[in-house]
Amino acid sequence: MSARKPYLAANWKMHMTADETTSFFDRFLGELGAAGDRDIVVCPPYLALAGAVERCRRSPVRIAAQNMHEEASGAFTGEVSAPMLTAVGVEGVVLGHSERRALFGETDEALARKVPAALAAGLEPILCVGESEEQREAAETEAVLRRQLEADLAEVGDHSLAEVVIAYEPIWAIGTGKTASPEQAEEACGFIRSLVSGRSAAAGEAIRILYGGSVKPANAADLLGREQIDGALVGGASLDPADFLAICTAAGSGRQ
Ligand code: PEP
Repeated sequence: MSARKPYLAANWKMHMTADETTSFFDRFLGELGAAGDRDIVVCPPYLALAGAVERCRRSPVRIAAQNMHEEASGAFTGEVSAPMLTAVGVEGVVLGHSERRALFGETDEALARKVPAALAAGLEPILCVGESEEQREAAETEAVLRRQLEADLAEVGDHSLAEVVIAYEPIWAIGTGKTASPEQAEEACGFIRSLVSGRSAAAGEAIRILYGGSVKPANAADLLGREQIDGALVGGASLDPADFLAICTAAGSGRQ
């Protein structure tokens, strides 16, 4: 059984106003209980971050953003920086989500700057990597993961690697209802761990590697029970407090 603490993250994408965020936490925190044996992180849109931080004070839930700019300030219209996020009590940030890579041109070069900038500011990066359907069919999954991780973590020192959370998110499984099988997810997460271990055996042992892609209450226990899968990054199902709670409860219940 792994000593790594289970990690459950909710990626709300462009859903939830500030008021809807408060209603979500009224229901979610009411049912959650202590949950000290797992990390629970919710990533609302920017405008709901400050309210979410306030609402989750003295609760086990931490709040993360869905993106940030790598510079601390400057002429970058429309962007938000790491110090702006920490100033309102945000503790983490999703980086490299496939929607940001595909729709907003986020590159591995930018991620190589963003990941260390997040760490330097005291934000926990949740770095997303994963292959497309065509790449999986062409047996390129491992090559894609290796390329993304080598590039995105190039400027992170070996001693800081375990402070990054990595989410394996096969693009073909995100928002599609097609979940990777527990075997596929386990294999890819194990491969990611072997890459990290290649740089630092201690970091490979300690780093949390999540699976993301159509995780639901019905498939959560199967995925989260695997030795190499330390948690989940959940999109659609995290918008429903009961569903996200069921997924959080499934984590850690019977790892293989
Ligand atoms: C995601 O947005 O990171 C995600 C995994 O979405 P979904 O759970 O809806 O597939």
